[in-house]
Amino acid sequence: MRPAHLNPAMEPALFPLFADLRQRLVLVVGGGEVAVRKVAALQAAGARVRVGAPALHPHLLASFERAEIEFLPGRFQEHWLDDAWLVVAATDDRAVNQAVADAAEARRLFVNVVDDADLSSYQVPSVVRRGPLQIAISSAGAAPMLARHIREQLEIQFDEAYAALTELLARRRQDIRRRLPVLAQRRRWFEQFLAGPALTFLRRQNQTAAESAFDAALQLADATSAQGRVALVGAGPGDPGLLTIRALRLLNEADVILHDRLVSPEILALARRDAEFIEVAKEAGTHHTTQEGIHALLLEHAALGKRVVRLKGGDPFIFGRGGEECEALRAHQIPFEVVPGVTAALACAAYAGIPLTHRDHAQSLRFVTAHCRQSEDRLDWQQLAAEKQTLAIYMGVKGLERLQAKLLEYGRHPDTPFAWVENGTRPEQRVIRGRLSELVETSTQHGVQSPALLIIGEVASLAGQLHWFGSTPLALQKIPAIELAA
Ligand code: SAH
Repeated sequence: MRPAHLNPAMEPALFPLFADLRQRLVLVVGGGEVAVRKVAALQAAGARVRVGAPALHPHLLASFERAEIEFLPGRFQEHWLDDAWLVVAATDDRAVNQAVADAAEARRLFVNVVDDADLSSYQVPSVVRRGPLQIAISSAGAAPMLARHIREQLEIQFDEAYAALTELLARRRQDIRRRLPVLAQRRRWFEQFLAGPALTFLRRQNQTAAESAFDAALQLADATSAQGRVALVGAGPGDPGLLTIRALRLLNEADVILHDRLVSPEILALARRDAEFIEVAKEAGTHHTTQEGIHALLLEHAALGKRVVRLKGGDPFIFGRGGEECEALRAHQIPFEVVPGVTAALACAAYAGIPLTHRDHAQSLRFVTAHCRQSEDRLDWQQLAAEKQTLAIYMGVKGLERLQAKLLEYGRHPDTPFAWVENGTRPEQRVIRGRLSELVETSTQHGVQSPALLIIGEVASLAGQLHWFGSTPLALQKIPAIELAA
């Protein structure tokens, strides 16, 4: 299930449907060129076709003489609809089309009036057909040119080999099911199989080699696919452009995605559509899902043979408790991998125009967290207060008084610049600058909200000159700029 916030209330769309028309009667009203095409398409789907029209196109007449279609001569009459499942109005007379549409509607029959979406209760999509595989495209009449463009793209992308591939898979369907009874296993196997050489063989019309590739893949199947696995994936700070390619791939293959609340909806929207999404909200103070609860969820889904993605804001190994999750997985012998993400400090600094190190102003950088009083008590204030270093502080906006007081107490200069980066890399990013002596005051005045990263150090003032993203940095009062190299 997609999270609710990705399903905003939308205009109702046409319901896509592939209908089995074999041996079912379809009425086509009209006997001209358009009717010829429609009748051919309906016959290709195995329908019984009745044509009603004053006169028949020679093609249709020939079909009628071969007893392939039924023919009712004359002007449209309501009883033509008797026994029909579906109706097509293909006359060039709008009044007749309207009459057919009304009569069909009254009998609850679906009707398509060719090239008239308003009168139609169903529409025929444009189709790319590859054997039993059909890809249908519709813009509900809104943008036919776009639909056509997409169709042309699909024609190229899905070449004729897909017909043979579909047939191969259909023929061997039972073998696949026997070998891989669990849906999640089959899904995974399919992806591996498709990534293999079978399609290439089919393109070269080498059916035997394709069958062998299929057999080989199926032989290997249970060895590789029985066990679930977990990927701890860094989602970065919010901008989907900062995802790694590996992260994107795993998101597309995942059966289950356990994500932090901090992960942006734009990123979740890139994940596989039918993956199961589970939000594990774990903010300081409000433990909706405890860390142990998260471990249990990871183990439970992996044990079912699923591919689990544990998606975390920023990087999984920076203040993300990724280490504990790996330990839990290891203890239960669940295979895992870790995909690094762009951590908030790097991303916020980049998007705020703050070089974290600088030849003249900062020779070292510290990632610090101070979420609660207890974590602050473990900090080495002496070292944190040293000059010419940058502090990247991951924290809520609470506990600032103590942070400011301690840094000053241990000798950091009161004029040391700081910058808050709130909602870093997101469209609503705000940067708020100031001096250490007025940290609390500035933060309160601008109402800094979580998530926000605090950067303290000489480099923070560069945000005033180097900002390039989002709104202009805010400040309580004018801050002296540090010298920029010419
Ligand atoms: N693993 C994450 C950090 C989790 S701790 C990472 O590597 O980034 C959560 C803290 O990260 C927040 O309180 C905030 O200080 C910071 N943070 C995360 N995303 C942020 C963002 N988009 N903008 C500003 N700060 C952010």
